[in-house]
Amino acid sequence: MDPSLLRQTAEHAVQYLAHVDDGPAGATRSATEVRAALATVLPTAGVAAEQVVAELVGAVRGGLVASPGPRYFGFVTGGAVPAALAADWLAAAWDQNAFSAVSSPAASAVEAVAVEWLKDLLGLPAGASAGLTTGAQMANVTGLAAARHAVLARAGWDVAAAGLSGAPPVRVLAGAEAHVTIQRALRLLGLGAATPVAADGQGRMRAEALADALAAGKGPAIVCAQAGNVNTGACDPLEAVVAAAREHGAWVHVDGAFGLWAAASPALAPGVAGAAGADSWATDGHKWLNVPYDCGVVAVADPQAHRAAMALDAAYLARPDASERSNSDWVAEASRRARGFPVYAALRALGRSGVADLVDRCCALARRMASALEADPRLEILNEVVLNQVLVRVDDDDAATDAAVTAVQRDGTCWLGGTRWQGRAAMRISISNWSTTEQDVDRSAAAIRAALGGLAPRSGW
Ligand SMILES: *Cc1c(COP(=O)(O)O)cnc(C)c1O
Repeated sequence: MDPSLLRQTAEHAVQYLAHVDDGPAGATRSATEVRAALATVLPTAGVAAEQVVAELVGAVRGGLVASPGPRYFGFVTGGAVPAALAADWLAAAWDQNAFSAVSSPAASAVEAVAVEWLKDLLGLPAGASAGLTTGAQMANVTGLAAARHAVLARAGWDVAAAGLSGAPPVRVLAGAEAHVTIQRALRLLGLGAATPVAADGQGRMRAEALADALAAGKGPAIVCAQAGNVNTGACDPLEAVVAAAREHGAWVHVDGAFGLWAAASPALAPGVAGAAGADSWATDGHKWLNVPYDCGVVAVADPQAHRAAMALDAAYLARPDASERSNSDWVAEASRRARGFPVYAALRALGRSGVADLVDRCCALARRMASALEADPRLEILNEVVLNQVLVRVDDDDAATDAAVTAVQRDGTCWLGGTRWQGRAAMRISISNWSTTEQDVDRSAAAIRAALGGLAPRSGW
């Protein structure tokens, strides 16, 4: 291996990150334009690795979004804390198969420590089992697979052996504002569409509506609750949700892709009180923990249900020491990337107080953004800013709001996306990056307000 290739490549990465803050926060070229810059016919003969890397760096220019930078507020997109990025480089260089303690003792040990720390930080039961997935989507699939197994087992049905044909029907109840990945998880698991449970104006499931829905039926039931609505940041009333579910013997799965991180902050933890009483949890590492893509976390209170849904068994997989962690027992993947390295590195670098500070800081910055925008008579904040999400409406008008989103994106000082919230257009701002500062928020708020200048005010203003 020629060391100069990797040194040069590291230099490309370092240069990119050193200047990520200088240019526009969004992409300046479309996917179609980037495609035109790539070799599109599969070459017969290869070329030198240096040339491949140099060409790739050139071709993607303008097509990268500055999501590692401090003023990218789209979706719920964290950056990468330096220790996690560095450890992720090592994960690629070491190229361990993080399948089991035999395929990589190091990947098994590091992931074992990382998931223990995650449970501790997020206030989850010490006895829960946990795995690192590609993201919250697969964490939802995994948690709900354990749920499916357990509720059917309690009804005397072994879904692993007998499948779903002829099984007792499983009722799935989800908040009306549950994330779309819950629907896909249920589709993959053959559980069908969830029965929606009424939500309030912030997107929180109404616990009384859940209790009524549970009382209206019987048999195996799964409740999909949420910590952190992807638009408003609102969290379901988890204590009441768990209490209602307990009364009816239902399993509670919490999709806390980013909102569960409130539990890591003493100041914000009351917002997710009751989460620890659930049966399974899904969250992300690549959002608020700021580890590189891809990384999600699933935890299940009953390791037996988790194992029954996920573990593999074959003679050639036998482990000399059964006490050592087999990472693959807790997720839907066999061979896999060593996601434990960047998670361990992020947690080791931040420490418990550093994670709390990261979460608190993003929420304080979201409130700062909301007040800066609210000061403009043309802007209205649509949500209670309880976490890191801010929803903004322009001139009380859908078309003006959509036009403002485009104008802000074109300006490039910051990047935010559009959404629909309860039938109305909104600009959606998510502050999830470890490197965002008060100056970044002030600069962005000024740019958003300035972008309105180019839009005709609605008649009457
Ligand atoms: C982002 C998100 C997901 C999906 O997470 P991925 O990491 O994209 O798979 C699920 N639920 C909620 C509430 C989210 O915010």
